[in-house]
Amino acid sequence: MRIVLVGPPGAGKGTQAQRLKDYLGVAHLSTGEMLREAHQAGTALGRQAAEYFEAGRLVPDDVVVGIVADRLNEADCADGCVFDGFPRTVAQAETLDAMLAERDMPVDLAIAVEVPESEVFQRLAARGRADDHVETVRERMGHYRRLTQPILEYYHDQGVLRSIDGTGTPDEVFARIRRTVDTARQTAS
Ligand code: ADP
Repeated sequence: MRIVLVGPPGAGKGTQAQRLKDYLGVAHLSTGEMLREAHQAGTALGRQAAEYFEAGRLVPDDVVVGIVADRLNEADCADGCVFDGFPRTVAQAETLDAMLAERDMPVDLAIAVEVPESEVFQRLAARGRADDHVETVRERMGHYRRLTQPILEYYHDQGVLRSIDGTGTPDEVFARIRRTVDTARQTAS
């Protein structure tokens, strides 16, 4: 199964993706994590990407698409994948569809994790990652609204979008995600 998690910064996508990956026994593909790792490793790509993510801007599509294409070729992605933080633009969603079509593996489900903006700001202030300053968060929220939210319509039109309430404890949120995934699997089989 291929599942895309969509939600604003601080929606808890990383936490839920990890759990979903364990539940389904599939791969977890987080572009945010891969970009931070590349930065820590000091690669040219990592340095280039850091200029964008440290300022709260989106890393250019070609950079992100390149690392996703490499990751998709790894063996653990063959059985399925939870996408976390990718796609983040309609162009990335279209590219992902093209890459998956080559492998005859469509996106089965896109799950929108819904969290009110006021709560997102509180959560990110508490998290305190390097790119979690108030100004940067504002910037990222703006990009989310303008560039990422349109992918909800894209997946809605494909008939694969489901929305869940992202508030409450991680266990409560995961229970909602699990129900959504179980229902989709039953309908598919
Ligand atoms: P969050 O969901 O909290 O914003 P991520 O770890 O997913 O955190 O992403 C951190 C940063 O990495 C983003 O603000 C952005 O600059 C960059 N990034 C991650 N994924 C993408 C993507 N698919 N396209 C462009 N930039 C990305």
